[in-house]
Amino acid sequence: MLQKREKVLLLRTFRGRTLRIVREHYLRPSVPCNSPLCPQPATCRNDGKLLSSDVTHYIIPDWKVVQDYLEILEFPELKGIIFMQTACQAVQHQRGRRQYNKLRNLLKDARHDCVLFANEFQQYCYLPRERGESMEKWQTRSIYNAAVWYYHHCQDRMPIVMVTEDEEAIQQYGSETEGVFVISFKNYLDNFWPDLKAANELCDSILQSRRERESESQESHGKEYPEHLPLEVLEAGIKSGRYIQGILNVNKHRALMEAFVRLQGASSKDSDLVSDILIHGMKTRNRSIHGDVVAVELLPKNEWKGRTAALCENDHEDKALGESPSEPMPTGRVVGILQKNWRDYVVTFPSKEEVQSQGKNAQRILVTPWDYRIPKIRISTQQAEALQDFRVVVRIDSWEPTSVYPNGHFVRVLGRIRDLEGEIATILVENSISVVPFSEAQMCEMPVNTPENPWKVSPEEERDRKDLRKTHLVFSIDPKGCEDVDDTLSVRTLRNGNLELGVHIADVTHFVAPNSYIDIEARTRATTYYLADRRYDMLPSILSADLCSLLGGVDRYAVSVMWELDKTSYEIKKVWYGRTIIRSAYKLFYEAAQELLDGNFNVIDNIPEFKDLDEKSRQTKMEELVWAIGKLTDIARHVRAKRDRCGALELEGVEVRVQLDEKKNIRDLIPKQPLEVHETVAECMILANHWVAKKIWESFPHQALLRQHPPPHQEFFTELRECAKAKGFSIDTRSNKTLADSLDNANDPSDPIVNKLLRSMATQAMSNAMYFSTGSCAEDEFHHYGLALDKYTHFTSPIRRYSDIIVHRLLMAAISKDKKMGIKENLFSNKDLEELCRHINNRNRAAQHSQKQSMELFQCMYFNDRDPETEERCLSDGVIYSIRTNGVLVFIPRFGIKGAAYLKNKDGLVISCGPDSRSEWKPGSLQRFQNKITSTTTGGDSVTFHLFDHVTVKISVQASRYHSDTIRLEIIRNQPYMIPDTELCHQSALLLKSELVKEVTRSVEEAQLAQEVRADTLQEEYQEYCQTKGRSLYKLLEEIRDLALLDVSNHCGM
Ligand SMILES: [Zn+2]
Repeated sequence: MLQKREKVLLLRTFRGRTLRIVREHYLRPSVPCNSPLCPQPATCRNDGKLLSSDVTHYIIPDWKVVQDYLEILEFPELKGIIFMQTACQAVQHQRGRRQYNKLRNLLKDARHDCVLFANEFQQYCYLPRERGESMEKWQTRSIYNAAVWYYHHCQDRMPIVMVTEDEEAIQQYGSETEGVFVISFKNYLDNFWPDLKAANELCDSILQSRRERESESQESHGKEYPEHLPLEVLEAGIKSGRYIQGILNVNKHRALMEAFVRLQGASSKDSDLVSDILIHGMKTRNRSIHGDVVAVELLPKNEWKGRTAALCENDHEDKALGESPSEPMPTGRVVGILQKNWRDYVVTFPSKEEVQSQGKNAQRILVTPWDYRIPKIRISTQQAEALQDFRVVVRIDSWEPTSVYPNGHFVRVLGRIRDLEGEIATILVENSISVVPFSEAQMCEMPVNTPENPWKVSPEEERDRKDLRKTHLVFSIDPKGCEDVDDTLSVRTLRNGNLELGVHIADVTHFVAPNSYIDIEARTRATTYYLADRRYDMLPSILSADLCSLLGGVDRYAVSVMWELDKTSYEIKKVWYGRTIIRSAYKLFYEAAQELLDGNFNVIDNIPEFKDLDEKSRQTKMEELVWAIGKLTDIARHVRAKRDRCGALELEGVEVRVQLDEKKNIRDLIPKQPLEVHETVAECMILANHWVAKKIWESFPHQALLRQHPPPHQEFFTELRECAKAKGFSIDTRSNKTLADSLDNANDPSDPIVNKLLRSMATQAMSNAMYFSTGSCAEDEFHHYGLALDKYTHFTSPIRRYSDIIVHRLLMAAISKDKKMGIKENLFSNKDLEELCRHINNRNRAAQHSQKQSMELFQCMYFNDRDPETEERCLSDGVIYSIRTNGVLVFIPRFGIKGAAYLKNKDGLVISCGPDSRSEWKPGSLQRFQNKITSTTTGGDSVTFHLFDHVTVKISVQASRYHSDTIRLEIIRNQPYMIPDTELCHQSALLLKSELVKEVTRSVEEAQLAQEVRADTLQEEYQEYCQTKGRSLYKLLEEIRDLALLDVSNHCGM
């Protein structure tokens, strides 16, 4: 029984016309109340999350409280919260998608005791808006009315506190209904939660910032920015092509001047625009913030401007270098914001002196975000002085047209500036990575495996799975000391003479049920995060290092792919997918497997599994294993050759060897001639991923999770081609095959760095590989360019990637479908999967950025406080790999650092190198050519720097109070640097990178010890925090591969 009502919305367009929008609205006699006190749960259909029965009252926040104090309502201590639909809609309309999603997630999250009540659909709760009544008043009245109904619905058994910011409502309703109390939110916290200090402080901070904002808008005169156009006008304008929709991207190196709008959606197809749109200056950016979805109006052509090609400092002296900008490009102004993408920002307060100079209003402080792209934020606080040495999290509340800066409030302290832990916390917040320890509820879902209560294979599983324990020789090959083994291999001869190849992957989804607490947590994390010195696991260690880890000599559940191959041609005849039980016979390490492959059998003395065998069985078992490794390698060579013919790329950075110390830390990454056995393992994994991709796509053509790697844009290869030409090489970028071949040929025998740099440029020109749902793009777009495969996915690392967990569930559903059995798995629809893919892609980018930023942090800490004049480490050989108008970009192989070196300094002097090759600054000018740049002094001396020239650079650190420190490079000789110690010559970049991390970690630890922290507790905490454990080479390769694809290096002005 539904009642139809009409809901009328009156919207005013910016020309002043009124728009009448009518929406049909259906009322029901009952909607879920989700209270355990419900007298008729069946009628209410309370089948979702219920409020806790263990509370003294329910709390119903008014719409404004939900809008402004959501972060306090998120405190898990606050229980029994009922969010009214009216309040939720107000958040959606006023605060944008991000805030609304936060609210939705809160409602979904079983850990938070809160529910939604759809009051506007309940026939006794719904109140039509009265003539002349303001939206705000109506919302408050509706929520109060629903609160009263709810109280009576629960048979007056649970008092209700409605919290509101509306003084009149408190007056009017405060004691109108017995059992329903209306008070302010501040009052509520003071009375009910006086001990919840963090919530009270946060509340004060938000209140204060609001008060200041109100008083300011009263006294304000004149507007700093034009008003934004109303949403419906923007939408109509975008439809008609008058405005263009896109995402605002601020240029980090000239944040106050340059931002670009990347076209989005229909805009990019309808308009003739091929490039981004330049937004020049803060005024035309009109209060939009990096990441916001904006609507832009193009300016007339005569007002278009060009972007600058010069290197520049990360400060505000944009014009300091007197650079002429490049060709004018489409330039526009922001007329409105379609979606705000505000997040938590890490900021630094000004020093005491700076606060004093800010003058009159000492309580309103301008803080500087760590991210250059975010404008300064005005914070109201009395704690400015106490906070000045810390990195602090703030949120933006509003940005009025009358205010030069956005207003925000203080949220929490992260740690001291320049303190390792504080800076790491900063990197995490800036990448929106939250890594709290796994909760009790999550851990309760975990299986037990203790000496008293050992985990065992269950009889049901034994019945349902294919048992390979007695029939298959299964083994793993990993780096020494690896704990989380998620892949194993097998190969054997079948009765018909054919071969059977098997890849057996940890069965994580057996232990992680869909939508369980641990599943939701893993989905949120989406990946394991690897920072320079630590890692944060996606799953608890009971799974990642124990029950899911395919260790030697123990029974484990696996998901297997097994192929039947022709005995001579290795052609694939059949494939089988399914759940299995395995017992890995050997947990081999790479070097040992390679020795066996090479016929050096003495190595078996180092393989523990061979220790206690008698001579005869030792011999038999060894022969068996050697045969298997040899056969696998043979098959892998064959498969690889097939991919190579299709143009698979060998990317820079792949040739790495990992060495772990006894504590399972990565000790070395040694880029050596790779062992063939690495490639064997990698190739088998690629094969499994490829076949699983085919399988799940065939079974679920519109909702399978695959991974695509789109071909690169040809124009991105221009720089690569030009650079190669400078050395006389020609790079053919027409296809992945020609690119792979020509990169192989571009080898300067006298300088191996050249090939490395060209490969790294090639990887930078590539697009990112991305997860996607097959329902959302055409089949010819599925292609994986780098691997030269038509379909690809991630199946082989479910312990550290959530994508693989989804793929495992899809594979299980596909198997059920084949057997005509019901599909138990609750699969994602295309739309939901697409959203999940966006999330995972976004989290992977965050993982890459945080890894890179943490590495840069360590680099700076390594060079910090060193005297560049005396310390050997500060001088190094560098290779020029890009020419700019006022300087060059330099790669330092020894440390793997890339950075800018200026040829013109701040005083306008240019570099000059005398006969002894030492550099000096003199008056003069620079002239840039295609592949070189010449500096000529007024005295007539000149020096030219070419691409790939080796120079001697001095490395120093440019300290910054507000942002991360940065590495500075200065060319001090136009000759290669001769390393005094020949040992160093052979040390590789990656080796030194890891040495560098170790040294910084050590010195930080020492500094902490010096602060009289008790040594043993520190050690313990540190280890727990670090969570560093072994990882397999294959994973590492994949990471480096992924990282290389993203490597947004420190280039200025790019
Ligand atoms: Zn009910």
